[in-house]
Amino acid sequence: MNSIDQFNFKHKKVLIRVDYNVPLNGNFEITDSTRIDATIPTIERVLKHGGSVILMSHLGRPKSGPENKFSLKHLCSYLSEKLKRDVQFADDCIGERAKKISSELKKGDVLLLENLRFYKEETAGNRRFAEQLALLGDVYINDAFGTAHRAHASTAIIADFFPENKMFGYIMENEIQNINKVFRNPDRPFTAILGGAKVSGKIEIINTLLDKVDNLIIGGGMMFTFIKALGGNIGSSLVEEKLFDLAMDTINYAKDKNVNLYLPLDAVIADEFSNEANRKIVSSYDIPDRWMGLDIGPDAIQKYNTVISQSHTILWNGPMGVFEMSNFENGTKSVARSVAKATKEGCFSLIGGGDSVAAINKYGLKNQVGYISTGGGAMLEFIEGKILPGIAAIERSF
Ligand code: AMP
Repeated sequence: MNSIDQFNFKHKKVLIRVDYNVPLNGNFEITDSTRIDATIPTIERVLKHGGSVILMSHLGRPKSGPENKFSLKHLCSYLSEKLKRDVQFADDCIGERAKKISSELKKGDVLLLENLRFYKEETAGNRRFAEQLALLGDVYINDAFGTAHRAHASTAIIADFFPENKMFGYIMENEIQNINKVFRNPDRPFTAILGGAKVSGKIEIINTLLDKVDNLIIGGGMMFTFIKALGGNIGSSLVEEKLFDLAMDTINYAKDKNVNLYLPLDAVIADEFSNEANRKIVSSYDIPDRWMGLDIGPDAIQKYNTVISQSHTILWNGPMGVFEMSNFENGTKSVARSVAKATKEGCFSLIGGGDSVAAINKYGLKNQVGYISTGGGAMLEFIEGKILPGIAAIERSF
């Protein structure tokens, strides 16, 4: 496998799969450019070493065919500004026009292709479509970790057309390195912090984590499924009754594995799902009818802070409460600050999943944690030990 640092890009047309699925406002202005900014080092590496770049991405979820609001043309001016050169645009990601523009690219030129998902063949992983994309370049780089768990045409299938000239970009390399750092040989104690609305979709990861961690801290809406399964009264808090058995299995498995499983002792409860609701702090196991838990309470915060401060490796995925509302953000904010403090004292912290990343950004801590993963779903699947098609396609040799 080639490395982007060693490859000679001179006179090569380099097709880079990026994740430019960025939020746009009503005027089609980018409201959070993090994903674009993260790709600049990979692009600049190619340009600096004599290549030209063809960028391809998806944006949103177009239903059938082109839609203006999902057009990547809205990103051109920002990209031109970032790369300090004119970025050309092809209004179709395959076909004669795209072929013509790409064939005329000169050293240092950058071309952005229209949204890949204007073709349903992209998500279907269609081979013919992947081949048409492949015609545009001499080298393929995958730098889209957020979609690495999907076997789409541009993230996996296309790699077959570049048996010699395929590689990871810097984002992919960093993701793989940092996630491996946590899971191959973590410094102990190793603590995982899981939150967010639901348990469903996270059971598999919880069980995988129990094989690896010393402490598992649970918060967010998902805590109530565990608390109810243990016989607590949770009022009208979020709950997934179908998962009681699985929740109990998890609790027992943690005991078998000698993992400390922490559920919050207390909760901040509200009489409606609103920032203006009446609030109380009660035991998480004794929530009155018609009240709902929307954050972890002060005792839980104190306990969690202690566990976090004693950890040497931390993985955090999911907020502790409804942190979007200021009256229910304390748990998430405290955990974010504790993780930053532990990191300062030498702990390695890995943050993943859209909402915990949003929380870290909201509290201005993004430069105070170990590594922020760009792909929530992809990160969890990677941790579970699943083979990610986007990674396998690059690593596979013929
Ligand atoms: P997820 O997508 O599963 O990571 O869930 C993230 C969402 O969970 C955030 O929007 C939070 O507002 C929400 N959340 C966290 N705690 C609670 C709670 N106790 N009740 C309802 N929603 C919650």
